[in-house]
Amino acid sequence: MTFAATVLTLYPEMFPGPLGTSLAGRALRDGVWRCEAVQIRDFATDKHRSVDDTPAGGGAGMVMRADVLAAAVDSVADTRPLLAMTPRGAPLTQARVRALAAGPGAIILCGRFEGIDERLFAARAVEPVSIGDYVLSGGETAAIVLLDACIRLLPGVMGAASSGDEESFESGLLEYPHYTRPAEWEGRTIPEVLRSGDHAKIAAWRKRQAEDDTRSRRPDLWERYSGARDQSPSGAQAKRKDER
Ligand code: SAH
Repeated sequence: MTFAATVLTLYPEMFPGPLGTSLAGRALRDGVWRCEAVQIRDFATDKHRSVDDTPAGGGAGMVMRADVLAAAVDSVADTRPLLAMTPRGAPLTQARVRALAAGPGAIILCGRFEGIDERLFAARAVEPVSIGDYVLSGGETAAIVLLDACIRLLPGVMGAASSGDEESFESGLLEYPHYTRPAEWEGRTIPEVLRSGDHAKIAAWRKRQAEDDTRSRRPDLWERYSGARDQSPSGAQAKRKDER
């Protein structure tokens, strides 16, 4: 099954952009996924082809018109999930990415200016998605991030590398740190255990590192992870062991 991405944007020339190179680019050429960029302005109805207007209630900037966006959405709508990139959306997670990658694709609406007339979200059941707590100039780069995260999970795109459940976020933890040759570099060595050949010891060390780094770098993830762990019977045991 081909993962079909349709992006609604004022800048269709931004697609596939960086997704046309490397693994995603090869997958695109191989037909693992498709990328269609639709010019929103083609759905404007007035003679100036306007897609935006001043904000109701006043304030700076312009707002994208619901009527024009709805016409653009309606021209491509099918059974695929319909997403809009917006900092007001639910933060994108690996779990949501996995679910999207397992489906038929996505229709992605990219905002510009101050954003999108709020009425569109309810009128067309649009899922608002954020890629993080910062503000971009437009939804296109956010859409590229979302698509990149999905495409690398499509069957055959990454080979074995993406199938592992050890990657950051898959287990609720950050991944453990990586090292490669040379064994010594600028006086720094690779942790001895990684060169021991003892797979059980290596696995234990990696788990410990993943937990320590998550605890110190991402207390938000750690809280969720350790909370879930403490609730499971084996988790409670693990916790008691930690505390000894
Ligand atoms: N005034 C808005 C920001 C508009 S930025 C606010 O304060 O919420 C212009 C467009 O960039 C948005 O419509 C959205 O499509 C995109 N964008 C900006 N930041 C984003 C983010 N963190 N995640 C997803 N899309 C984002």
